[in-house]
Amino acid sequence: MFETTIAGSLPKPAWLAKPRMLWAPWQLAGDALVEAKRDATVLALKEQEDAGIDIVTDGEQARQHFVHGFLERLDGVDFGRRVTMGIRNNRYDAEVPTVTGPIRRAGSVHRFEAEIARAHTRRSLKFTLPGPMTIVDTLADAHYGDKPSLAMAFAAELNEEARERAAEGLECKTAVHICYGYGIKANIDWKSTLGAEWRQYEGIFPALAASRIDQVSVECAGAKVPINLLGLLKGKDVLLGAIDVASERIETSEEVIATIERALPFVAPERLYPCTNCGMAPMDRSVAIGKLAALSAGAALARERFGSQHQ
Ligand code: ZN
Repeated sequence: MFETTIAGSLPKPAWLAKPRMLWAPWQLAGDALVEAKRDATVLALKEQEDAGIDIVTDGEQARQHFVHGFLERLDGVDFGRRVTMGIRNNRYDAEVPTVTGPIRRAGSVHRFEAEIARAHTRRSLKFTLPGPMTIVDTLADAHYGDKPSLAMAFAAELNEEARERAAEGLECKTAVHICYGYGIKANIDWKSTLGAEWRQYEGIFPALAASRIDQVSVECAGAKVPINLLGLLKGKDVLLGAIDVASERIETSEEVIATIERALPFVAPERLYPCTNCGMAPMDRSVAIGKLAALSAGAALARERFGSQHQ
C-alpha cells in the first residue's frame, strides 16, 4: 500500500548537462556523452532506491528534453529547421523542430537507457514517453496540416516504442500524467491566473476512467485542484502528486501524509501511489533528492497510520 513513485524526470548532474534549466545543453559529446548518460542513469536509480522510492525511473538522464528526446530519432522531423513558437497555449516560447514528412521511427529511440535502467535495479521500473498531445504542442508542422492526424501519427510510433519496452512477455501497466507544467516561472505565473479552484481535471477524468489506461498521475501538492475530483477516477490507480516541483522548499513527511489523507476519501488506499506533482528536471539536484526522501518518509508514515484501518 502507498507505494511511491515519481512523475519521471530528475535533475541531471552538472557534469552531464547545464544545471537548473529545461533543454539544458550537454556538457560532453561523442563517446564521452554516451558514457556520461549511462553513468547518470545508474546514479538516478541509486538515488531513488536510497531515498526509498518503490517504482523507479531512469530519471530521463539520457534525453535533453522529455519531448524532443523522443523526436530526435524519428524520420519526418527536421531538427535543422527550427522555429521559435509559443507553446503550452503561448505560455512560453521554445525553439522547436519542424515536421517535414511522414513520422516514422528510424529504430528504437530509448532502448539504450531502458536497458541500462532494467539491468541496474530490481525494483519495479517505470519508463516515460511524451503523450501525442504534448508532442504536437512542441513542434511545428509543415506536412500533416492538421493537429489530430499529426497526433495520431505520433500515437502509432509511441505505441511501437512502448511495445519494445514490454519485453519478456510482461504485461506492463500504463500510466498517463496530466500536467500543469514543470515548476518554471511561466507556469507558476499561469497558475496564478487560474482562480481559486483548478477544475481542468474535471473535463478529462471521465474519459480517462473509461479508457484502458491503468494509472493517472495528477498534481495535488500545493495545487488548487478540488480533491474530490479524484472520485471521477474510479477503477484507476492514482499517482497522487504529494511533492510540489514549483517550490525549492522540501516538504515535511507530515505534509506528504496530509495530502494522502485528503485523497483517501476519494481513492481506495490500494490504488493510491504517492508521487511527485511533475518532473523534477529543472530543479536543484540536492533539493530534488531531499524531496524524494520526504515522499518516501511520508508514505511510510501513511502506511503506519492508515494501514490498519484499511485492512
Ligand atoms: Zn507534469
